[in-house]
Amino acid sequence: MDLIKNKDVGRRITGKNNFCPKCNNRGRVKIVKECDKEKFSDLFDRYDATGTLEHYICYDRAMEDCEYDYFYCPNCEEGQKYKDKYPEYDGI
Ligand SMILES: [Zn+2]
Repeated sequence: MDLIKNKDVGRRITGKNNFCPKCNNRGRVKIVKECDKEKFSDLFDRYDATGTLEHYICYDRAMEDCEYDYFYCPNCEEGQKYKDKYPEYDGI
């Protein structure tokens, strides 16, 4: 499979060709640690309940308050920057 060509694109996405849905062009994915899963879900629900925040913002804010690990994204060029630093992300 070819890597998505999104190196250094960041948020300046122009189309499907340079957008990686797996990592949202961040190249790495934050995964909340097992011990904080419940806390994360409570926080997410609390932010989401306001009804004024986009889901991804609720997600990011909840994550900031929890312990998490980074994984690199194997699907895109941006992810290759982190290949030697973090384990591979195998989620969706
Ligand atoms: Zn990616």
